[in-house]
Amino acid sequence: MSPIAVMLTPEHPEGIEVDPTQPQLLLTDQAATRGDGVFETLLYRHGRLREAEAHLRRLDGSAEALGLVIPPQTRWETAIRLGLGAFLAQTGDDAEATVKLVASRGPEDGPGSFWVFVSPVKRTAATAHGPENGLRVLLLDRGYDSGAADRAPWLLAGAKTLSYAVNMAAQRWAKTHDADDAIFITSDGRVLEGPTSSVLLARRGPDGTVTLLTPELETGILAGTTQAAAFDVAREAGWELGYGPLTPAHLMEADAVWLVSSVRLAAAVTMIDGQPVAADPELHQILVSGLDAQL
Ligand code: PLP
Repeated sequence: MSPIAVMLTPEHPEGIEVDPTQPQLLLTDQAATRGDGVFETLLYRHGRLREAEAHLRRLDGSAEALGLVIPPQTRWETAIRLGLGAFLAQTGDDAEATVKLVASRGPEDGPGSFWVFVSPVKRTAATAHGPENGLRVLLLDRGYDSGAADRAPWLLAGAKTLSYAVNMAAQRWAKTHDADDAIFITSDGRVLEGPTSSVLLARRGPDGTVTLLTPELETGILAGTTQAAAFDVAREAGWELGYGPLTPAHLMEADAVWLVSSVRLAAAVTMIDGQPVAADPELHQILVSGLDAQL
């Protein structure tokens, strides 16, 4: 299964398939020199692209935050169809694929660079981390307080930019310190998100109610498409829903904690900063099978 690349160019605004093993960008492209651009990662699974509309809307929102003019959604859709068609021609329709959309500011004096990259999914998404083999996570200080997003819009909090060096460094830090992943917290102690995921927690009430919570968007976290999809599953299951502020204590006292994102879907967290946290196989099953079944 070779990855497929499609570029949207002025000559081919609907996209043209290019060879991903050959150079396609200039050295001066600001995606390469400054991480100046935006991206989305989608999952193709069970014959459909999950949450396509929400991802394209978020791509538009991120581009707007950066003052970046990108192709309209219909062109992205055409380019995605082209890329997925070529990928599935090799694999068959029931394959899984990661579909990455990238929009760069392009070279200094040139037009932007835009492409779609379709590649195999690296790990089994939904079943990789259940309660029996959950993630060990470290809480890492994001280095700003919960008012920073409001105070400093140039931080581009909430936009999915190509500048992910900090996020990757946080994951490396976790991996070299006996953990699998990280959860960022603000300097004033609010739970934010993972470097590549949203955080969910569930609480069981004495009367049998289940409440699913996620941190509030106002702290500048990314509005997760999987978090929104998980809320749909929870609503369907009759759970209550809520938004933060959440603190590390809320995570430690929860009945279940997950990291959720487009490709992994829902991964259970079972250890935070070396302390075990509760996992709930029944709630995990409802969440994972609900996400899996969504049309
Ligand atoms: N937060 C960050 C920082 C992310 O990078 C991601 C996904 O990569 C998410 C949250 C989860 O977003 P989604 O569920 O739309 O994939």
